[in-house]
Amino acid sequence: MLRFAPSPNGPLHRGHALSVWLNAEMARKLNGRLLLRIEDIDPTRSRAEHIEAIEEVLDWLGVSYEQPVRRQSNFMADYVQAFQTLKDRGLVYPCFCTRTAIDAAVQAKGPEWPNDPDGSPLYPQTCRSLTAVEAAGHLALGDKPQWRLDHTKAIAVTGPLRWTSFDPETFLTTARQARPERWGDVVLVRKDTPTSYHLSVVVDDANQGVTHIVRGMDLEAATDIHTLLQALLGLPQPLYWHHPLIHGPDGKKLAKSKGSDSLALERDAGLTRSALLADFRNARILVDAEDGEPEA
Ligand code: GLU
Repeated sequence: MLRFAPSPNGPLHRGHALSVWLNAEMARKLNGRLLLRIEDIDPTRSRAEHIEAIEEVLDWLGVSYEQPVRRQSNFMADYVQAFQTLKDRGLVYPCFCTRTAIDAAVQAKGPEWPNDPDGSPLYPQTCRSLTAVEAAGHLALGDKPQWRLDHTKAIAVTGPLRWTSFDPETFLTTARQARPERWGDVVLVRKDTPTSYHLSVVVDDANQGVTHIVRGMDLEAATDIHTLLQALLGLPQPLYWHHPLIHGPDGKKLAKSKGSDSLALERDAGLTRSALLADFRNARILVDAEDGEPEA
């Protein structure tokens, strides 16, 4: 079981076309099924028009996927339940720090303070040591917490972990060491939504029976946290392939937030599916999707 899991925060770009084609190809090779999951947990950035556009672009790309399409916003109760399991085990804590307070605490740590794999300074664990009385005081003032994973406690529970990558051609697998500690105390429940990317992705992959995850290399490091959460929640571990990313003319990875390189705009300006496939092949990126335009 495979899934393509875009967040409807902006229009899809070439990187998404590559990812969904590779997912479809892998589903074919494995005689498996492809799901579409809309990761719309963000109440402000997720937009209905982007969801419609995703389905329309996938149609144009000639990708078919199973119905029904899952929208994460319909499954919040599942994430809340998973979070409660971690809370009952004392593995999470409420954090009342503002962005400014975190920045100041990081500054105070000095220039050697480490960054996480995405380049943000690690959270300095300020609220780990809040007492129950202090936390209650914040709540009484109406402060809304985000909830963080105490990664030291979590890793003490699970011990060292591995995840498994697979080769897209031979399907040979390789054990990889998970290093969740390099992410520090990640946020599992945000202030504005009762979950987070990390929590909902592992819960859904398990609930949807996903066995093979094909996604961009930019998410490879996140697999550390996903592996830790899977171990804590007793969820099965899928196999992973993190595929190469497409870079824009500026050499930077494509990002939805930029909007400039939207596939729909490129298509409206005359890009064809075959030309896009040819571009990927010229870039020596393996795409086996059928050539030719989809039938009208
Ligand atoms: N929703 C994520 C994104 O749009 C991808 C999640 C995943 O594949 O794990 O980048």
